[in-house]
Amino acid sequence: MRILVVEDDINLNRQLADALKESGYVVDQAFDGEEGHYLGDTEPYDAVILDIGLPVMDGISVVEKWRLNGKGMPVLMLTARDRWSDKVSGIDAGADDYVAKPFHVEEVLARVRALIRRAAGHSSSEIICGPVRLDTKASKATVDGVTLKLTSHEFRLLSYLMHHMGQVVSRTELVEHMYDQDFDRDSNTIEVFVGRLRKKLGVDLIETVRGLGYRMQAPSEAR
Ligand code: CA
Repeated sequence: MRILVVEDDINLNRQLADALKESGYVVDQAFDGEEGHYLGDTEPYDAVILDIGLPVMDGISVVEKWRLNGKGMPVLMLTARDRWSDKVSGIDAGADDYVAKPFHVEEVLARVRALIRRAAGHSSSEIICGPVRLDTKASKATVDGVTLKLTSHEFRLLSYLMHHMGQVVSRTELVEHMYDQDFDRDSNTIEVFVGRLRKKLGVDLIETVRGLGYRMQAPSEAR
């Protein structure tokens, strides 16, 4: 899962990015509204954390422009505690949720998890595929109750496939959601990660769809 953080306060931006990375996300950072708007317009994100008060272009205009341009990714706005009107404007402009400053990073993480889950059609914090359970809260996965030892790449891969269970996910899509913008991307490595993940899962749940990509689904749901 790939997240964009748009926040001009350098320390706060870093704090959010670090916490997100620790939870297994890949993160791109922007420090003004224009840069943030450009990234959100050109790169695929699973969620965006967007400050309302930004230099060059404010957060409300940023989300408004994205929505006008058909960008539907979940957006969590950061607002000032005493400005209720900002919250209303943010939601009206197309934001999905907000957190008032000052906040606990844990609250931001919980809201981001919920936004990503709901965008993928899952209402519970645990996503289940046959014997595999993905605990989005603890960033952990188990098979038949046994915790899997996954590298950060393997976890991101499993997380993305499970959030999009039953759908065919292309290699390009996986690359775009597993690496940040500065990473030297190579879609051939995806095949290697899928191979390793299959081995660790020990159950055949990831199907290769020739020429298209991969699909993860529980055996009973397989066609
Ligand atoms: Ca600000």
